[in-house]
Amino acid sequence: MPMSLKDKYAIVGIGYTDQGRVPGRSALSFYVEACANAIKEHQLRFQQCRDCQHIRCPPSIICPLCYSHDTEWIVASGKGKIYTFVVYHQAFHQAFENDLPYVTAIVELAEGPHLLSNIVGCNPEEIECAMPVEVIWEDISEEFTIPKFKIVAEPKGRS
Ligand SMILES: [Zn+2]
Repeated sequence: MPMSLKDKYAIVGIGYTDQGRVPGRSALSFYVEACANAIKEHQLRFQQCRDCQHIRCPPSIICPLCYSHDTEWIVASGKGKIYTFVVYHQAFHQAFENDLPYVTAIVELAEGPHLLSNIVGCNPEEIECAMPVEVIWEDISEEFTIPKFKIVAEPKGRS
């Protein structure tokens, strides 16, 4: 079956959404906006492919694994583990001077997506890969919130 004009526009990301064609905006911008709005509501929302169940980040018009367009939105638990990290001892922008030393990490969420964020409320010298973390929300303003992560104490008796 030949591809519809709507599908062609969707693949190149220009302007077709569920609401029709929107001049000057890409369809993809609506998906990115949906994630940003979820963060304002203190939720990590991701697209999940209805065909292969893959949960993806960043949002996209088609599934990167099976190319399906059939997608639903899920809310992640906010739990995960440190995939990798770095401790900054030098501020490359003055806005970060008061945070030194601070931890920037890639967090692997329980649902699979990886997020670049900060690990806060911890001693940076005690951070290790695979430590369990959970999301906390730093409200910068009414319009802007940053998801950050804190270490979760493991239940006693585990090694
Ligand atoms: Zn898929």
